[in-house]
Amino acid sequence: MTAAAYVSREGQKVLLIEKNKECGGLVNSFSRDGFHFDAGVRALEDAGIIFPMLNDLGIDLEVVKSPVSLGIENEIIHIENLDSLTAYRELLKRTYPESEAEIDAVLKIIRKIMRHMDVLYGIENPVFKDLKHDKRFILKKLLPWLPKFILTVGKINRMNMPVEDYLETIIKNPSLKDIISQHFFKNTPAFFALSYFSLYLDYFYPKGGVGKLSDALKNKIGEYGGETKTETKIIEVRVDKCIVIDQEGVTYGYDNLIWAADLKKLYQIADTDGLPSKTRSKFENDKKKLLSHRGGDSVFTLFVEVDEPLESFRKIAHGHFFYTPSKRGLGETHWNELKNLLIHFEKNKKEEILSWLDKFTQLNTYEISIPGLKDPACAPIGKTGLIISLLAEYDLFRKVQDAGWYDEFKTEFENRVLNVISNSIYPMLKEKIIARFSSTPISIENRIASSEGAITGWSFEKPVPVVNKIQFSDRSVLTSIPSIFQAGQWAYSPAGVPMSVLTGRLAADRVLKKKTPKFSRKKTKQTLRLV
Ligand SMILES: Cc1cc2nc3c(=O)[nH]c(=O)nc-3n(C[C@H](O)[C@H](O)[C@H](O)COP(=O)(O)OP(=O)(O)OC[C@H]3O[C@@H](n4cnc5c(N)ncnc54)[C@H](O)[C@@H]3O)c2cc1C
Repeated sequence: MTAAAYVSREGQKVLLIEKNKECGGLVNSFSRDGFHFDAGVRALEDAGIIFPMLNDLGIDLEVVKSPVSLGIENEIIHIENLDSLTAYRELLKRTYPESEAEIDAVLKIIRKIMRHMDVLYGIENPVFKDLKHDKRFILKKLLPWLPKFILTVGKINRMNMPVEDYLETIIKNPSLKDIISQHFFKNTPAFFALSYFSLYLDYFYPKGGVGKLSDALKNKIGEYGGETKTETKIIEVRVDKCIVIDQEGVTYGYDNLIWAADLKKLYQIADTDGLPSKTRSKFENDKKKLLSHRGGDSVFTLFVEVDEPLESFRKIAHGHFFYTPSKRGLGETHWNELKNLLIHFEKNKKEEILSWLDKFTQLNTYEISIPGLKDPACAPIGKTGLIISLLAEYDLFRKVQDAGWYDEFKTEFENRVLNVISNSIYPMLKEKIIARFSSTPISIENRIASSEGAITGWSFEKPVPVVNKIQFSDRSVLTSIPSIFQAGQWAYSPAGVPMSVLTGRLAADRVLKKKTPKFSRKKTKQTLRLV
């Protein structure tokens, strides 16, 4: 959507094609029974990218801060400013008094990373500034910042190892290590994971839900003369003819294509017949590489409508809450035990899988979002909507589905999450639930068509197959086919909303630099018949 907005702003003819009824993918909100919920990301981080983009496009989005609370068992702290790091240290020390020195060591590193983050996001991202005309920005901000940025990038790149391995070098207490890292994806680069304390302070929430960002961009694209076509899924790309084909057989010609969905899908559906052999062989190499990688972790999310006022929840924690009901930590439950469970899945009894699920839900860390605590208009008066999620493995849901008990498993999962949360932090959930429903990695795969239901692009378990160094982000949008560019969560790693926006802008710039003639739209005979 960012790419579409920027290209249409320059008067190019743009068609944005989206498979769902509504645009935005994982930046999406929906309403049920008067409750507003967010289907994907729960709040947004500026990261020096989103506000500059909104400013640059003249989008006026009404936003509020989305403060974060952290909790372990009965101990909860509210992250208000940099001093909250001290409160975090005290919380960890009260919980793990035997590990004081290790806690101090890890906090020292988090503090160091926060200083790097201050540099990294210290100025508005120059990509969204008018560098030709804004001399003041260049002289006063960009030039003084550049040397610090270059120095910091070097330091960041040295912390690219998996967070688990990194923590292993400073923390011996396995529970403490888990509590700090278990709500990150497996093998998340240490810098990215440990930078989250800075990001907690950066979260904001558009009034009405995160989906308002997508609505605003869609309106802007329309204002600039761009066209949006929803409920249209691209199932084939004919590269030599420069056309894409949708599920109804309708074809759309393009001069430049920006692919902002799953990259594996692009390479699976692209037909490169007719291209020069050098380009084809480069394409085949990239295809082989990409198809051998998996999407990263996915989530299980429980949506709950509760007949209890927001005030009861406000007394406990902010509307964005990372909560761990047990200080024990997941240990081997998530990765090794689950891995074994999956290898021998067919031999396991249902009870064994459910008993693993008991442990998994009891020992995990939850991301709990209460939209009404950020914007009271998101819940009916006197009631509260909760979004409770935890990282979940796609393969488990797929195997359960293949074994024919997906719906049952989903209900069992919901029951366990509710039990854990109502027996710990929100006891009022026990009696007051009006309705509940959930989404799984399979739901995410179906809705946004992402490999393995991934929510932030590539898995970190193998070296990622795309650009992953900030200084080379400009190249992340290139594909092996000259008129096709890539953007979004699969184009750069680690990903998230800000990088999707940034790559959208970078892809738009590449298209605009080519100064292509106006967009041409071709229709086949079949299209005309369908229309
Ligand atoms: C629970 C949760 C928490 C998260 N927390 C954070 C966070 O704290 N910070 C953060 O930065 N990020 C977070 N994320 C991740 C973030 O939401 C995503 O990485 C980001 O929104 C991806 O945006 P995107 O536009 O690149 O891709 P997507 O959202 O996947 O959009 C791709 C779009 O393409 C459409 N599409 C796919 N295939 C086709 C096709 N063949 N034809 C037509 N259309 C197609 C899809 O329907 C979708 O609308 C979170 C996500 C979740 C689910």
